[in-house]
Amino acid sequence: MIIAIDGPAGSGKSTVAKAVACRLGLRYLDTGAMYRSVAVAALARGIALDDEDALAHIAEKEHISFEHTEGRSQPSRVFLGAEDVTAAIRAPEADVAVSAVSRLFKVREVMVAKQREYVRGQSIVAEGRDIGTVVFPDADIKVFLTASPEERARRRAAERSYDAGSGTDPDAAPARQAETLAALLCRDHADSTREVSPLTAADDAVVIDTTSMSTEEVAERVVGLVGEVGGAVAGDVGCGAMSGRPFDEGC
Ligand code: C5P
Repeated sequence: MIIAIDGPAGSGKSTVAKAVACRLGLRYLDTGAMYRSVAVAALARGIALDDEDALAHIAEKEHISFEHTEGRSQPSRVFLGAEDVTAAIRAPEADVAVSAVSRLFKVREVMVAKQREYVRGQSIVAEGRDIGTVVFPDADIKVFLTASPEERARRRAAERSYDAGSGTDPDAAPARQAETLAALLCRDHADSTREVSPLTAADDAVVIDTTSMSTEEVAERVVGLVGEVGGAVAGDVGCGAMSGRPFDEGC
């Protein structure tokens, strides 16, 4: 059973994918983290973000791995080789660099092969931009999540301020959201207009507008789709602790 969840930044993919994986006892694959890891390596090594061969070489040679705590669906840490890049891949510099890296054909070619290899016959919930269109076109369930840009920016800003420990200071919220909205629209544009595997819903994907839905409601809908296709899920991976973020604000 492969459940593919695609959508733009802040549409709720990660939170929903984790919640669905948790409910069904399946592994979860965050393909964005893989592209982010290559971007972080490029920045650290001073490699130009349009040097396709050098970046594809990193993608090919560096082992990207997820540390799963036994019995839990959510990877707690991401490694590039032996280096723990869990925090670095979420930094604003990585946000900016990742779209440049992910539009390169040779990088995508390597990433897609690694994603297929990672799954290798297991049941999984995979999230990204091209999971239903390119990586797993035969996925049992394909979901494309959307939400208004303003709501996506609100979620992303809340998530980032929560991570930074700056809480929910109401005075800082409007500026933070405006800045986040601009960055998000820029990334949407780059991801949707690139030549290779642009962000788009698969023809047979179920499109869910999550603007006014909670994570619980969206996860419920996706789990319902599994029931509709008569999917037999025999997952044995438990939920584990959630990340600690407000449940409906992590994207
Ligand atoms: O999902 P996340 O925001 O972490 O993805 C970061 C970036 O990685 C996206 O903006 C996109 O450029 C790229 N990406 C992609 N294909 C995927 C997953 C992510 O191009 N399957």
